Amino acid sequence: MAKGRLIVLTGPSGVGKGTLLKSLFERHPELYLSISVTTRAPRPGEVEGQHYYFVSHAEFQQMVSDGELLEWAEFAGNYYGTPWRSVEKQIQQGRSVVLEIELQGARQIHKTFPEALRIFIMPPSLAELEHRLRNRGQDVEEAIARRLETARAEIAAADEFDIQVVNDDLDKALNRIEATLFVPVGGGV
Ligand code: ADP
Ligand code: 5GP
Repeated sequence: MAKGRLIVLTGPSGVGKGTLLKSLFERHPELYLSISVTTRAPRPGEVEGQHYYFVSHAEFQQMVSDGELLEWAEFAGNYYGTPWRSVEKQIQQGRSVVLEIELQGARQIHKTFPEALRIFIMPPSLAELEHRLRNRGQDVEEAIARRLETARAEIAAADEFDIQVVNDDLDKALNRIEATLFVPVGGGV
């Protein structure tokens, strides 16, 4: 059986990754979304095992020392990581796996899985990114400031990725991602 692909989706917090992925998974239930572990507190409405596995610092450190994470990083004062077991299982079973992770994690994956497809989601502008972060209304002011600061460095690294998709019009951005993931085999004229 052919192995599944590893697909990395990165972009500044608030750019719309979660929104894009929700639509992508509705259209393509054959894809598998890796659920990360994080030390961040759940936001209102976030569900354990669906959005993240929420763990303590001690539990996270234990996972790191036990080699359970494919990659991990600190982001805006919290730790995030990808448990490798389920990712490996899905890929072996021929299912493509999407990792929604930040820049440092994407760089680690590039080293360990150079064949992974890496997509960077760009905001139309920094002003629009700030507007979306505030509009989402789920982060305190300090967290928004940290996320915007990190965003600048992330956007500067967008060229490291295989493709860059601007999330201005949601449907257009989604179509662009789909076109990249589902390239027709054989091509034609
Ligand atoms: P991320 O997962 O990248 O942190 P979210 O998916 O939570 O971002 O989106 C942040 C906010 O931006 C949400 O309120 C969402 O509804 C809004 N948003 C996402 N995509 C667009 C878009 N193309 N145009 C306008 N607003 C958007
Ligand atoms: P949030 O707190 O907004 O859910 O996520 C903050 C950032 O952490 C986002 O850029 C998100 O892509 C990233 N992230 C989520 N899970 C992981 C993970 O497992 N590893 C890494 N490196 N980043 C992650």
